[in-house]
Amino acid sequence: MLTALWILVFIGGSLALTYHRVPLFLATLAYLVFLIVYTVAGAGPDWLKLLFWALFLVIAVPVNVPAIRRAYVSKPLLDVFRRIMPEMSQTEADALESGSVWWDGELFSGRPNWQHLLNTPAPKLSAEEQAFLDNEVEELCGMLDEWKITHEWCDLPPEAWDYLKKKGFFAMIIPKRYGGREFSALANSEVLAKIATRSATCASIVAVPNSLGPAELLLRYGTEQQKDYYLPRLADGTDVPCFALTAPNAGSDAAAIKDSGVVCKGMWEGKEVVGMRLNWDKRYITLAPVATVLGLAFKLYDPEHLIGDTEAYGITCALIPPHLPGITIGRRHFPLNLPFQNGPTQGKDVFVPLDFIIGGTKMAGRGWRMLMECLGAGRAISLPSNTAGAARLGVYTTGAYARVRKQFHLPIARFDGVDEVLGRMGGMLYAMEAVRTMTAGAIDQGEAPAVCAAISKLHVTEMARQVGNDAMDVHGGKGIQLGPKNYLGRGYESIPIAITVEGANILTRNLMIYGQGAIRSHPYVLREMRAAADEDHARALRDFDDALFGHIGLALSNAARALWMALTYARFTRVHIATPTERYYQHINRFSAAFVLASDAAMLSLGGALKKREKLSARLGDMLSYMYIASAVLKRYEDQHRPEEDLPLVEWACRDALYRLQESMHAFLRNFPNRLVAGVLRVLIFPRGRMYSAPSDALGHEIAELISLPGPARIRLTRNTYTGDPASPVGLFKEALELATRLEPVERRIREAEKSGKLKVGHGAVPALAAEEAGVIDAQEARALIRLEELTAKIVAVDDFDPMELGTKPFRTQARA
Ligand SMILES: Cc1cc2nc3c(=O)[nH]c(=O)nc-3n(C[C@H](O)[C@H](O)[C@H](O)COP(=O)(O)OP(=O)(O)OC[C@H]3O[C@@H](n4cnc5c(N)ncnc54)[C@H](O)[C@@H]3O)c2cc1C
Repeated sequence: MLTALWILVFIGGSLALTYHRVPLFLATLAYLVFLIVYTVAGAGPDWLKLLFWALFLVIAVPVNVPAIRRAYVSKPLLDVFRRIMPEMSQTEADALESGSVWWDGELFSGRPNWQHLLNTPAPKLSAEEQAFLDNEVEELCGMLDEWKITHEWCDLPPEAWDYLKKKGFFAMIIPKRYGGREFSALANSEVLAKIATRSATCASIVAVPNSLGPAELLLRYGTEQQKDYYLPRLADGTDVPCFALTAPNAGSDAAAIKDSGVVCKGMWEGKEVVGMRLNWDKRYITLAPVATVLGLAFKLYDPEHLIGDTEAYGITCALIPPHLPGITIGRRHFPLNLPFQNGPTQGKDVFVPLDFIIGGTKMAGRGWRMLMECLGAGRAISLPSNTAGAARLGVYTTGAYARVRKQFHLPIARFDGVDEVLGRMGGMLYAMEAVRTMTAGAIDQGEAPAVCAAISKLHVTEMARQVGNDAMDVHGGKGIQLGPKNYLGRGYESIPIAITVEGANILTRNLMIYGQGAIRSHPYVLREMRAAADEDHARALRDFDDALFGHIGLALSNAARALWMALTYARFTRVHIATPTERYYQHINRFSAAFVLASDAAMLSLGGALKKREKLSARLGDMLSYMYIASAVLKRYEDQHRPEEDLPLVEWACRDALYRLQESMHAFLRNFPNRLVAGVLRVLIFPRGRMYSAPSDALGHEIAELISLPGPARIRLTRNTYTGDPASPVGLFKEALELATRLEPVERRIREAEKSGKLKVGHGAVPALAAEEAGVIDAQEARALIRLEELTAKIVAVDDFDPMELGTKPFRTQARA
C-alpha cells in the first residue's frame, strides 16, 4: 500500500514537472531529491529502489551531459531525421520563409500566452479612415446599382470609375508621399466590406489594386525610379493596374507557368538595348481588359549570358505597358454573372528593356518570393473582407426579413427551423468579423502572419458560403428571383469566386495552413530542419541537439498537459484573465496541448509522408484554425469592452469552434494509420470521451432574437452595412423591423380576438380597420399596421420582366424583325 503511494507521488510529481515545463536540470535535481528521500525513508522492496536509481543513472545523467547526449542520442537521431525530412522545392521553401509567425506560434506552443494576444491593441480606424468610410464609401455605394451593373451595363457606370480613381479607392495602400491614402490594413478591409454590402462587383474591382499587384510589389521591391514614376500614377488613377500570374496550365501550381522572357538585344525607342523577349498566355486576370499597366510573372532565361552566369533565373515580375506590339488584351471573361473586369491576355515576342523588371535586373528570378511575401499577409484582406461584407448584408436583411415575412399567420422567425438558421448566421458572422479584424489588426502591428492569413481566407470565405446559403434559404423565392429588388442573389453568386481566388480553398486547407504551420509556427521543427540542412556538421549537431531536446521536453509536457486538462475538463489551467469567457480560454489551452501532441506524433510517425496525407494534415490544420477562430472571438469581445448583449454570439462561436475542433481531432485519430499511436493519443487526449457539444438550440434562439429584433447587438454586428435610401429594397428594413417589433403585441391581440370570436374580418376587409372598428386596437395602431403591411408588400415583392428584356440576343428579336 505504502509502495503504491510512493509510486503515485513519483507519477504525480513527474506529471507536475512536465506540465509546468520545469527545465531539465531542475527536474533532474527534483528526481534526485525524491530518490534520496525515498531510499532513506521510503517503503517498498530494495529492488524497486535499485531500479529507480538505475533508471535515474541511465536516463537522467546522460541527458544532462551534452557531449554524451549528442554522441549517443542526437547524432543517430539527426541521421534518421535527415532521411525522413520531406524534400522541399525552392518554391516551397520561399513560401515557407515568407511572412512572420504570430498567434499561430502561441497556439503551436501548447501553452498560449493570452496576454500576448490581449495586449495587441484593439484594431481601430483613424478619424480620417472613419470619415472616408462614412463619406466617400457611402457616396460611392449610392452610385452603384448592382442590378444595372450586372445585368444591363456589364460594368460599373463611368461616374463610379471616375469617382474610384479620383477619391483614391485604388490607392489605399499607397503612401501619402506618392499621393495615396496610406490606409491601415483594417481600413482597407472595412472599405471593401462596406462596398461588398452594396456591390460584389465593385468590391472585387477595388480589392485588386489594393492587394497583390503592381502597387504593393513596387512599394516593397521597386527601384526608386519605378516608384516615382508609377506610384503617383496609380494613386491618382492615371494608371489602372492588373497582375497576371495564372495561366491555363498553371493555376494552384502557379510556379509551373510556361510564360517566358528571354534576355536578348533589341530595339527600344530607336536604340539597341539589352532587354527581354516575352511570350505569355494568361487567363482570369482581374482588371486586365481595362488595365494600362500589366504586371506580369514569367520565367526568365539568359541563354547568351548577357546579364550574368545564370541561364535560368526562375520566376520574375515586370511591369509592361499593355499596348506594345504583340500584346493581346481587352477580351473579357464573365465570372459568374459578376461583370468586374476580368479577362485573358497573350503576348507574342514582346520586346521590353530589362529595367521593366520590378526592382531591376537584381530582382531577376526573385518573383516567386516577392509574390509569396505579398500574398502571405494580403490573403487576409481582400476575400475575407468582401465575403464578410456579403454575409453582413445577409444577416442584416435576413434577420429583418424573417420578422416581417409571415407564413401561417406568424413571422417566419417564429418557426424553430428558421430560428435555427438565424442562430447559425449570427454566430458565424460574429466569428467572421472577429477573424477578419483581428488578422488585419495584426498586420497593422507590423506582422505578416502568413498562416493566420491563410486561416482567415479559408474560414471566413467558407463561413460566408454557409451564411449565404442560409440567407437564401430563409428568403425562399425572394432570394432567387433576380432583378433590382433582389439584394442577395449577386452576392450569393460571388461566393465561389472568393473560394477560388488567392489560394483555392481545398488547396489552402489541405496544403497551406498545416503545411506551413507545422514547420513555421512550431517552436522547434524549422530549427531542426535548418540544423539538418546545415553543412557545417559540428554546428548542425549542436543546433539539432538544442532543438531536439527542447522538442522532446515540449512533447512530454504536452502529453502531461493534454491528459491532465482532459481529465479535469481544463478546469484548473490558469489563464490570468477574469472575464465571463474564462472557461473558453481554458478549453483552448487544453486543445493547444492536445493539438501539438497529435501534430508531433504525426510528424514523428509519418515523417515526409505526412505531406501527401492531405486528409490527415488538413484536419490538423482545421484544429489550428478553430483555435484561431475561438481566440479571435474572445479577443473581439474584450476589444469591444465585453458588451453583455453580445455574450450569446461569443458563446455560440466559441462552442461551435470547440466542437468542430474536437470532431476534427476525433476524425484525425479515427483515420490515423498507426493504430497503436492513435490508441495512445486517444487515451491521452480523450480519456473521458468526447465531451464538447455543438451550440445548444436555446443559445441559437437567443442569437436569432438578437439579429431579428432591433437592438445594440444587431446594430454592432451589422454596422457599416450600406442601406441607402429608406425607400430602397434594403433601406425599407429599418422602419419595417421597428414597426414589426413594436406591433407584435397588437397583432397578438387581434389574433386572440379572432379566436374568441370578438373580431370577424370579412372577405376583402382590411384587418387593421376591422380590428379598430371592433375596438380591439386604437386608430394609431391601425395606421401603424397598415403602414407595416405596405412596407412588407414592398419587401416581399420580386421583379418580373418583359420577355424581351432578358437575354442579350433573344430569338424573338430576330423573329419579330
Ligand atoms: C474571378 C477570378 C479572378 C482571378 N483574378 C486573378 C488575377 O487577377 N491574377 C491572377 O494571376 N490570377 C487570377 N485568378 C486565378 C486564381 O488565382 C486561380 O483560379 C486559382 O489559383 C486556382 O487555379 P485554377 O482555377 O486553375 O484551379 P486548379 O489549380 O485547377 O484547381 C482546381 C481544384 O484543385 C484543388 N487543388 C489543386 N492543387 C491541389 C493540391 N495540391 N491539394 C489539394 N487541392 C488541390 C484546388 O483547390 C481547386 O479546388 C482569378 C481567378 C478567378 C476565377
